[in-house]
Amino acid sequence: ENIKKHNFGAGPCILPQSVLEEAASAVVNWNNIDLSILEVSHRSPEFESVISRTGLLVRELLKVPEDYTVLFMQGGASTQFSMIPQSFLKTKGLYLDTGYFAQKAIKEALFFGDTEIIASSADKNYNYIPDIQSHHTNADYLHITSNNTIEGTEIFNWPDMGVPLICDMSSDIFSREIRIRDFDLIYAGAQKNMGPAGMTMVIVKNKLLDSIDKPLPSMSDYRVYRDNQSLYNTPPVFSIYVSMLNLLWLKNNGGVSGIEKQNIKKAKLLYAEIDRNTLFRGNAAIAHRSRMNVTFQAVEPTHEQEFLDFAAKRGMIGIKGYRTVGGFRASLYNALSLQSVQALVKTMQEFEILRQ
Ligand code: PMP
Repeated sequence: ENIKKHNFGAGPCILPQSVLEEAASAVVNWNNIDLSILEVSHRSPEFESVISRTGLLVRELLKVPEDYTVLFMQGGASTQFSMIPQSFLKTKGLYLDTGYFAQKAIKEALFFGDTEIIASSADKNYNYIPDIQSHHTNADYLHITSNNTIEGTEIFNWPDMGVPLICDMSSDIFSREIRIRDFDLIYAGAQKNMGPAGMTMVIVKNKLLDSIDKPLPSMSDYRVYRDNQSLYNTPPVFSIYVSMLNLLWLKNNGGVSGIEKQNIKKAKLLYAEIDRNTLFRGNAAIAHRSRMNVTFQAVEPTHEQEFLDFAAKRGMIGIKGYRTVGGFRASLYNALSLQSVQALVKTMQEFEILRQ
């Protein structure tokens, strides 16, 4: 396989080489129509077939039930942080505080009404997923973050508070099987397992959409996106196109259940080395370790920069931890091969021998 760099970046991140090559050729001459994908109208039949096919692939890969709508929007997951409370917060929004992005979601909700943090792992630098006591309060929704990209924790048991469940799945959507029915709204920026930055996907239960009972500015109104098949204004054409190619790649590579097995294998391999190697230790509580973003530290702080340099010489990039966490973060998104994880493990072993 043609490996340019072992790209462990957290997002935008690695995409399959075959997808990049097909996208590159479409930029020059798309499907031999003597036009670039970048210069085709979003109202053309060609692009309309791309956006509808992308929606169908999402539905097929995630087994989206009929009474849910798939939307393609812009503004990143960060725009959803405010659109959600603007649309659905009437009395109170419940939030699970599991890290940096959960905090950002809470910050935006405060513009629109009352919020309650039902549990937080801030006491331990967000290295675990807090237990949720299911008490049923009068609230409009519970917001959770399925995978905490910066801290390296992931939720494996969905809470049920008896209110609509809204989930930020930006960094683990399409990486593992989920049951859409467990959620009322899921959102994700494209730039991890879906495609290039620029598009945000929302999967929403129609019943939740129908609960919106006020007029909203068009670009902040989910109903406008639904009623116009995500073509109310110019959508992020290229991001949607490459997402379609990437979802086709996923479909041809075992689908979500197939990639989940691969992802488990990759994560196990790396965590096993972190636990074995005397120079490193993992950040996250073992039961809550993320399969997508593996965070760890050097036991000896002076080793941190040394290891980054050592790994860089071996073609590894993107393993520096986020500034608030420090240490290392290796992101193992769908397109990252097992060989890249093996190469990182070997690098850690060689570093250990060198430092002993
Ligand atoms: N939520 C999570 C879990 C993320 O990982 C990110 C981005 N890395 C965001 C939200 C913010 O997404 P965006 O930059 O698309 O607004």
